[in-house]
Amino acid sequence: MKMTYRELYSWGMDQLKKADIEEAALDARLLLEEVCGTDRNYLLSHGENPVTEIQNRDYTADITRRAAHVPLQHILGYQEFMGLKFKVTPDVLIPRQDTEILVEEVMRFLHDGMRILDMCTGSGCILLSLLRYSNECEGIGCDISEKALAVAEENARLLDLAADFVQSDLFENVDGKFEIIVSNPPYIPAKMIPELMEEVREHDPLTALDGGGDGLDFYRKIIKEAEKYLYSGGMLFFEIGYDQAEAVSGYMKEAGYQDITVCKDLSGLDRVVSGRMGG
Ligand code: GLN
Repeated sequence: MKMTYRELYSWGMDQLKKADIEEAALDARLLLEEVCGTDRNYLLSHGENPVTEIQNRDYTADITRRAAHVPLQHILGYQEFMGLKFKVTPDVLIPRQDTEILVEEVMRFLHDGMRILDMCTGSGCILLSLLRYSNECEGIGCDISEKALAVAEENARLLDLAADFVQSDLFENVDGKFEIIVSNPPYIPAKMIPELMEEVREHDPLTALDGGGDGLDFYRKIIKEAEKYLYSGGMLFFEIGYDQAEAVSGYMKEAGYQDITVCKDLSGLDRVVSGRMGG
């Protein structure tokens, strides 16, 4: 039996609803658009058109994966962030909208020609966005995961941006000094990981999430070392979990940072802490 575009969409949405997928309607539509090469108007304007057998088969396979709680972005293969398209695979944390706040905060201080270090770069989305929206900055992204760095490099190539990606356990293989160090490190307390959504818990890399016993391991380590890698007057920016502002600000204060500032995300939760070293 020949199915129409609209019928196939309704079927996909029902499957996702039955599987308790939060955004069933949206995900069903986005997957269908990807398979058919259509946009959001197509459902309204051409919903009665039949789909091909291949489209039907590919969509059914995608819906089956999404119903099994594979993240939408792993099926599509990309996520938009700061208006740019980033390739994602299970080797990198899927870029989150909250992290755009971190990029926007950095951009308030970013000047052309600065040297930027992105610690725990993952997909490269933070560093590459900063490079896209500035001129002649030098960007270095490090990560402990070689597989993540391969994705970051691919993203730089796709966006036609020049950045250096370095395999490094924190600062181990980092040289020189920077005006800006930015990081969205793993910050989930280990005991909270079983509580995360299945999409996150089972599909984002654990090494990108697990911040140790209290979730703060990476902040302590990075704050301790960053001083050696910041020019006088250089800035350190972190994404943080909603209840970590006080602890992270405290560590920065102890380490001698000034102008320590906490910013909230669009849900009103603390999301970014920044401070200036000397100068
Ligand atoms: N914000 C992410 C989440 O809630 C965690 C990212 C991180 O640990 N850096 O899943």
